[in-house]
Amino acid sequence: MTIRHCSVCKAEMDLARLSITGEQSPLAVAVRDLPVLECPQGHRRFALADFPLLLLDHLLEQDEPQLPASTSRGLLFKHFHCAACGAELGRDTDRQHTFKVEIALAGLPPFEVDLTMPVHRCERCGHEQLHSLKELRNRTPAALAHAFKSAAIAAH
Ligand SMILES: [Zn+2]
Ligand SMILES: [Zn+2]
Repeated sequence: MTIRHCSVCKAEMDLARLSITGEQSPLAVAVRDLPVLECPQGHRRFALADFPLLLLDHLLEQDEPQLPASTSRGLLFKHFHCAACGAELGRDTDRQHTFKVEIALAGLPPFEVDLTMPVHRCERCGHEQLHSLKELRNRTPAALAHAFKSAAIAAH
């Protein structure tokens, strides 16, 4: 990797690992060991110019579609059914479940993303599943943006 200099203080930046969290209700996201560029003064920058886009694309297109989600039927009054056994699910989604995803982008060291969402637990077979995959995908961009903002990671 070429040597990069901090745009604020001009010091050399090194790859650092960061743990950050963000929320866009009802989704809470936590990223562990996120690779970022950091200077000795603590100024931060994304490891790649398009890192936020790459990460978002990876989550929305590859990781989230693989998570267990209930199927909904009905137009006006939605009924949710277990993806494993087909039983109708109750309306309450008070339980929270954290889905862990490991991601490696563009040759950078791998890091972990935790997605915490309300889930349905099927009373018949015990399968835990997202209420709606669409809801998760809709909230992911804002939750990640909040996490990046809270850690003051600057764009390139
Ligand atoms: Zn600096
Ligand atoms: Zn079931």
